[in-house]
Amino acid sequence: AKASGQGNVVEFDRTMDIEAQALMQMERDLRAAIDNDQIHLLYQPLIDIDRNRTTGCEALLRWSHPEHGNVPPDRFIDLAERSGLIVPMGEWVIRSVVEAAAQIDPGICIAINVSPVQLRNPDLPGVFVEALTRHGVDPGRIEVEITESVLLADTDANLSILRKLRDIGLKISLDDFGTGYSSFSYLRKFAFDKLKIDRSFVEPLDREPQSISIVGSINALARALQMTTVAEGVETERQFEAVRIIGCDQAQGYLFARPLTLDALVAHVETERRE
Ligand code: C2E
Ligand code: CA
Ligand code: CA
Ligand code: CA
Repeated sequence: AKASGQGNVVEFDRTMDIEAQALMQMERDLRAAIDNDQIHLLYQPLIDIDRNRTTGCEALLRWSHPEHGNVPPDRFIDLAERSGLIVPMGEWVIRSVVEAAAQIDPGICIAINVSPVQLRNPDLPGVFVEALTRHGVDPGRIEVEITESVLLADTDANLSILRKLRDIGLKISLDDFGTGYSSFSYLRKFAFDKLKIDRSFVEPLDREPQSISIVGSINALARALQMTTVAEGVETERQFEAVRIIGCDQAQGYLFARPLTLDALVAHVETERRE
């Protein structure tokens, strides 16, 4: 019994080793990925509902791993956050997005996802200023998307960096609204420019009448607080019709476009302008 007990312990340690090693390997791969051009950004259009045309987009990270293929961001962002790699990777995202903004129609804004870990880094505002100055981009065209989890921990430090970002002239959006708990309390802590209504509220608009009241109430709340609104994950004409009637400002989702390469985004916008 004793021997098998010890065996279990050894086996457990080995399993831990293998997991830890796999994680460390992944971390090394991720570190190299930026230098080896395995990381790139796609841009998903945001549609102005009244004008029925693209007025913005959201930059979304993609990692094409040489062995594991396309690793979805939900899988590697977490690793990047835990290892601290999110900081250099996030800086690469910021520089790439600002450079892209300089290349596209100045009527198009670009949103960047910023992790809570990045928001604890006092160098963050400087990274934006440097990129904006270098490429001569109007800061009002860049939106910083944060999730509620940002405001869960280290609130004061995070809030002061968030305020600095807004002082630069960047727009600040609250992402995935409604998915965290006590969402409403965050609205008191910071005056966000934009509120993104999570896909989980938009999805049932097709079939559940009460979800119209929920999205309608969120939209009215945002309005009362002078925020613009985005309905996330619009996939059907019926959902689009519902968010249009409710009065959301923008919509994003597969109904309009999937995340696109920068070239495809430019082509998409040009086609729209010609219509
Ligand atoms: P998110 O910020 O909520 O981004 C929207 C996600 O919804 C994207 O997934 C997008 O492809 C997906 N989506 C858009 N329209 C639809 C739709 O109509 N239906 C459905 N089912 N999905 C839709 P993606 O690209 O896999 O990104 C997942 C998450 O990874 C993002 O969620 C964001 O939290 C994170 N992420 C992506 N890029 C970055 C980045 O550069 N930095 C950080 N920190 N996080 C990122
Ligand atoms: Ca987002
Ligand atoms: Ca979102
Ligand atoms: Ca409107």
